[in-house]
Amino acid sequence: MTPRTAIYPGSFDPVTLGHMDIIHRACKLFDKVIVAVLTNPDKHTAFTVEERMDQLRRCTRDLPQVEVGSFNGLVADYAAENRAVAVVRGLRAMSDFEYEFQMALTNKTLNAKLETVFLATRAEYMFISSSAVKQIAMFGGNIERWVPACIEQDVRARIYAGGQS
Ligand code: ADP
Repeated sequence: MTPRTAIYPGSFDPVTLGHMDIIHRACKLFDKVIVAVLTNPDKHTAFTVEERMDQLRRCTRDLPQVEVGSFNGLVADYAAENRAVAVVRGLRAMSDFEYEFQMALTNKTLNAKLETVFLATRAEYMFISSSAVKQIAMFGGNIERWVPACIEQDVRARIYAGGQS
């Protein structure tokens, strides 16, 4: 049987424990999960695409089903190229819903074979976002409970040291 592949696209600037929880849960549902960093040159990010991919690889080292990739076009096309059957997205609050719902409808129009699977966040990760992590780190706050231990130092060094070099 062909392995069932899902794409988990996002900015991951940086990857948080909320993202990691979605990755772990997606691994239970699919044979292969491609965590794909969206490359958008117009968007200012704290970490480069290469850095974010490297962080994701370090954080998913123990998950053999995970592959880390990047793309700069449409999720629907990237999914088709990788023969993915689904796009995985996490939902934190109602405020995520409208945007995510629109994206799901758009992707369905562009690639009718592609399903979007929404995973509801765990209550303890509900308020975790990459931007909140960066704000806390900027003021020297403790981000231990928000990001995987293996990237904590990276985040602190980059953000607390005064933003992107
Ligand atoms: P994007 O820029 O595409 O929103 P993000 O890196 O912010 O990328 O998020 C990627 C995906 O992970 C989105 O579906 C987002 O809703 C989800 N996500 C982010 N943080 C959490 C969290 N704490 N719990 C569950 N899902 C999350």
